[in-house]
Amino acid sequence: CGVVGIYSNDETITAENIYFGLHSIQHRGQESAGILVNKDGAIKCYKEMGLVQDVFNESIIKELRGNIGIGHVRYSTTGESLASNAQPLDVDYTKGTFGFAHNGNLVNTDELKDQLVKEGYEFKTTNDSEVIGVLIKKYTKDNIVDGIKKTMETIKGAYAVVLTCEDKLIGMRDPHGLRPLVLGKNKNGYILGSESCVLNVLEGQIIRNIEPGEIVVINGDVVESYKTTPKKSALCSFEFVYFARPDSEIDNQSVYMSRLKAGKILARENKIDADLVVDVPDSGRIAAMGYSQESGIPFAEGLIKNRYVGRTFIEPTQERREMKVKLKLSPLKSTIEGKKIILVDDSIVRGTTMKNIVTLLKQAGVKEVHIRISSPSVTNPCYFGIDTPDKKNLIGANNSVESIRQVIGADSLSFLSLEGLNESCSDANLSLCTACFSGKYPMEIGN
Ligand code: 5GP
Ligand code: SF4
Ligand code: MG
Repeated sequence: CGVVGIYSNDETITAENIYFGLHSIQHRGQESAGILVNKDGAIKCYKEMGLVQDVFNESIIKELRGNIGIGHVRYSTTGESLASNAQPLDVDYTKGTFGFAHNGNLVNTDELKDQLVKEGYEFKTTNDSEVIGVLIKKYTKDNIVDGIKKTMETIKGAYAVVLTCEDKLIGMRDPHGLRPLVLGKNKNGYILGSESCVLNVLEGQIIRNIEPGEIVVINGDVVESYKTTPKKSALCSFEFVYFARPDSEIDNQSVYMSRLKAGKILARENKIDADLVVDVPDSGRIAAMGYSQESGIPFAEGLIKNRYVGRTFIEPTQERREMKVKLKLSPLKSTIEGKKIILVDDSIVRGTTMKNIVTLLKQAGVKEVHIRISSPSVTNPCYFGIDTPDKKNLIGANNSVESIRQVIGADSLSFLSLEGLNESCSDANLSLCTACFSGKYPMEIGN
């Protein structure tokens, strides 16, 4: 998912700016979109299933007036793909109503929810996110920041949250900093966003990243910061591998530079001679460039992408995923026929994409396909908000590299090492979560 929050000096542009911000993070979730505004404590929200451009129109945006606003784009990891699970959510509490939106996934939802239901709290959705809101309601007496602090001590997992109540815009980030959240400013006020590309589209500048375990409270020109106890930093490495947009910077690391570097390291670690380096568009392109630069083997386009077909992994069922791969990519015979190619992609998750691509390429007359993947093999599920929950569907969890090679029909296959992945983000000296590649989770996984 992706979140945006804005505190503006002009109530007529808040919703529109959130709309533009959500467009820029549409890649983080395509199932539903929503905007919630706060006008002097009165909350108004519009959310629907679908893409940002389909959910909103001019008249809906015009109706959403308020100095403070938050927005959300969703893809489901917990809770079904239903309209009732769309965000932002609103919750009544002692001082009125607050609205909030969550990116990430909690790992102790079930026990918390059982407990809250026993205590008489009601739930409107099947989202894990609602637990955050209900806990804040439960723990808030006079000051919502105290309620948020207590909530952060109670919930476990990944969260970057934007919240609005009274005259405040609030941002919070989990103690490991698993999901990103950046604070910026433009001529109209303050902006919070999942990625810095939100700031680019709103002509804003990065002020700083919200720290692991931090709560920021924005009220007019004042930004206050409250700290809860941070844990060992574990920013999701998959943000750099695949999820985030290349023009974003996360915790001071450029996503583009990390992908380029991953490709270069991949070339050093897994040398092979070939005629061309070919990318799987678009997710493999930057690493393929890096591979080509490091190896000196020319880069060429060998697959043409139908840009009107969305990201395949986001589709909830396996059949729909397979069909979409075929619709999405088509081989470029004129560059690759008769050639020995190095094919670079960012990741292998289920293996469906690569298997189909190798078949396409061989049918188009490619002589040899040597696959190089700019991340390690995905061997474990993610519990923190990336949609790889089931071990049985992860080809890397159940197969050796050699047997993956056989299944997908490649002439050779190798992955970036774990050290290589960490090194690809070394510009900012980041301490990363690599659990889906290494099995080492930054916390114990409950229920
Ligand atoms: P798969 O191996 O599942 O067929 O797909 C791998 C390709 O799709 C890669 O090109 C990667 O960019 C993307 N991808 C597929 N599934 C997922 C997923 O569950 N999560 C993420 N983050 N990326 C995926
Ligand atoms: Fe990211 Fe993988 Fe960690 Fe999940 S398990 S947060 S996808 S690095
Ligand atoms: Mg891809």
